[in-house]
Amino acid sequence: MSGDRFEHASCNFKSHYGSATLHIYSFGDHEEDNILCIEASPPAGDSPERAPLVRVQSACYTAEIFRATDCDCHEQLDESLTRVHQEGGFVVYMICDGRGAGLLTKVRGLALGDTNELDTWDAYQALGVEPDPRDYGRVAAVLTDRGLESVRILTNNPRKIAGLEQAGFSVEHVPLKIDATADSLPYLLTKQRKFDHLYDYSASEQPMD
Ligand SMILES: [Zn+2]
Repeated sequence: MSGDRFEHASCNFKSHYGSATLHIYSFGDHEEDNILCIEASPPAGDSPERAPLVRVQSACYTAEIFRATDCDCHEQLDESLTRVHQEGGFVVYMICDGRGAGLLTKVRGLALGDTNELDTWDAYQALGVEPDPRDYGRVAAVLTDRGLESVRILTNNPRKIAGLEQAGFSVEHVPLKIDATADSLPYLLTKQRKFDHLYDYSASEQPMD
């Protein structure tokens, strides 16, 4: 929760995307108690009046590490890092795969997709798990520590917008549009129809492959 105590460390950070500062906020003893935050400055001479661009991403190791094709998580992270390095802003990364339910639940859910053709929402229900149990209290604590009160959040997920608004932030929504592929379209449609995501994938009649 936002009242959690944390330890903080930061360093200069160069990546494929450019130069930034890497922050680690540690809220406990376990690896998943760490939140990573990339902070990139706006271009020199740019004094933006708008709130900073912020992406809140939670881990999807299957896509981000092993490049799974059944979701858009790798592309969302890539696009977010690109835009934040271009415009200035923050990418806050939560180490909580399976939308906070953990890797074991995620893979059990994917297996139910294989065997029972359940989408991720129904698979989690069948497993007795909340479909999206993520809590954004620690993210709010990180953003507050970085001095933010207003954000432009790069997302399609209304729960992320509501989570930060409930934490007291002024939130402007910036859509994060990733083209569907033949593999990712079923998951993206589930996110739209059952998780109320704001980006409409039903128009993706001929998804890019
Ligand atoms: Zn994913």
